[in-house]
Amino acid sequence: MLNVKGLPYQDVKISNLSSFDGYQINFRINDHLYQFLVGNKKRPFPLNVMHIFKEKDICIFCNKTIYPYPAGQQICLAFQKQLPSLLNHFQTSYPNDFIV
Ligand SMILES: [Zn+2]
Repeated sequence: MLNVKGLPYQDVKISNLSSFDGYQINFRINDHLYQFLVGNKKRPFPLNVMHIFKEKDICIFCNKTIYPYPAGQQICLAFQKQLPSLLNHFQTSYPNDFIV
């Protein structure tokens, strides 16, 4: 099982979206970009994690071959099983980026 709290997150960017009620959390692990969508600003709940790869490559977490964004934009099933823990990790690590 993926331990989402122990991963080497880099370039974490948490955006407060205006287009819908929620957050977009972008992060990079090694050379791979991911986008985590969270709904509801006041009571955040996790929606999904998408691969945002620049080049065709294999995701080390779900082992799928991912095509470059936007053609290959698809949900990462490995992260998908750990969404509550992932959201908790970002809320704990970056509390100022979330509305209280
Ligand atoms: Zn994946």
